[in-house]
Amino acid sequence: DQRVVLITGCSSGIGLSLAVCLASDPDKTYKVYATMRNLAKKERLLECVKGLHRDTLDILQMDVTNQQSILEAKDRVTEKRVDILVCNAGVGLMGPLEVQSLDTMRQILEVNLLGTIQTIQAFLPGMKAQRQGRILVTGSMGGLHGLPFNELYCASKFAVEGACESLAILLHHFNIHVSLIECGPVNTDFLNNQQKTELGDASLQQVDAQTLSLYEKYLQHCGAVFQNAAQDTEDIVKVFLDAIQSPSPALRYHTNDAMSPLTTLKTTAPDSSQYISAMSKLIFSSNSAEDQ
Ligand code: NAD
Repeated sequence: DQRVVLITGCSSGIGLSLAVCLASDPDKTYKVYATMRNLAKKERLLECVKGLHRDTLDILQMDVTNQQSILEAKDRVTEKRVDILVCNAGVGLMGPLEVQSLDTMRQILEVNLLGTIQTIQAFLPGMKAQRQGRILVTGSMGGLHGLPFNELYCASKFAVEGACESLAILLHHFNIHVSLIECGPVNTDFLNNQQKTELGDASLQQVDAQTLSLYEKYLQHCGAVFQNAAQDTEDIVKVFLDAIQSPSPALRYHTNDAMSPLTTLKTTAPDSSQYISAMSKLIFSSNSAEDQ
């Protein structure tokens, strides 16, 4: 029997690469349901799987913020079971906190946190009944340590960590394994797709000069990090495969060691003051002492 995989957020990036990789398995080990919010964006995925057999890939509409849409996608799974659920859909939000509207903040939490949770909710009873399953979630370094100008994004990803860790303790009793694939920067459309306050944005007129200058430094830092240290989606997909193929997968997989000295500071110096000064120095270090 094929292992039935359902992935969210497959129109681009990590979700698309994972769907293509699993659907291209020469032994046809997987039947992949690649889901996306907007089916009009399926061309990119179709382009990547050109020539593949129809029996390993199906594309379904699914908006993770819409319960009806999740349940309709679930109904379309012909095998009537999902062995491997991949909660990958997510969006970023970047900018000074004081300019974020309540609606924008809600939207990030709706997609990243509640979207992930309500997708899991929909497939959990089936997995429990089968007494087996895998739940993989695209996690982020932003879920493990704070990042300036990413308060809402980090809040949503920290929250996902808490939800997954909590579930893992229970689901262990049902032979269901939860794994977070913790990514650092990855070369995808993520930065373009995110909600970002641009430097010329009118909303920034209400923000004080020091915050603005720090934001500018942050954007430069972020650009440099993505340019120098971003991984390709193929690297991330390998880690997903490790977790999928492991007989006893871990709760957390790190895709990249580059950030681990900083994350380690949070455990070796648990009051986090060292983390805060190290991160501040890394991002904002400049000639201006008052910024640090
Ligand atoms: P991406 O923007 O290419 O992919 C995100 C996907 O989620 C898109 O296809 C988008 O359409 C989809 N999506 C957004 N809202 C949705 C909704 N309501 N319903 C269904 N799908 C929705 O970027 P990516 O880098 O591939 O992001 C995938 C995941 O990886 C996200 O959860 C992101 O937080 C996480 N991540 C990315 C990075 C990075 O640097 N790219 C780093 C750490 C974690």
